[in-house]
Amino acid sequence: MGTTDDYSTGRVLENIRKALHVFDSTEGSLSNNEQALRIQEKIQAFEPRILSFPEASDYIRKASTIALGERVCRVLHPGSVSTESVFLDELAEAMICSEQAMLASIEDAEQTLKQHSSHPLIISMVSGRYQEICASYTPDCVYWRAKKRGLHCLKHKNS
Ligand code: SF4
Repeated sequence: MGTTDDYSTGRVLENIRKALHVFDSTEGSLSNNEQALRIQEKIQAFEPRILSFPEASDYIRKASTIALGERVCRVLHPGSVSTESVFLDELAEAMICSEQAMLASIEDAEQTLKQHSSHPLIISMVSGRYQEICASYTPDCVYWRAKKRGLHCLKHKNS
């Protein structure tokens, strides 16, 4: 799993970049590729779950701090569709401090996720708690790309 420090310092982005490089430089199923299996382990540590809007809203309403910012991986694909993420609790505070996100209200966060309703919502475990809700962009998302290549990591929240 990543930590709030990994997010605020950009280390998480470096790990995404490395994983995407493996996906870009290989073809077909990766379920027997040792390097890819190590990536799968790292991805699974985030315990990513696909969320419905009401489930996302529930997390937002229980958070002590809420922040909104560009989805972390978009830096790697600056020309891609723009979507935003909601950061919660300590991760929200860390992202605000590192100027990667801005303080937001419950209403702002919910409205933003509604605006991205065609993008599947994914929640990730950061520093031991679910603290990042991303309106994922499936062509570039490390989770969706891993899934497409036979590396299982994504589940629905209630499964
Ligand atoms: S699109 Fe996927 S890889 Fe990119 S920030 Fe969102 S959850 Fe992470």
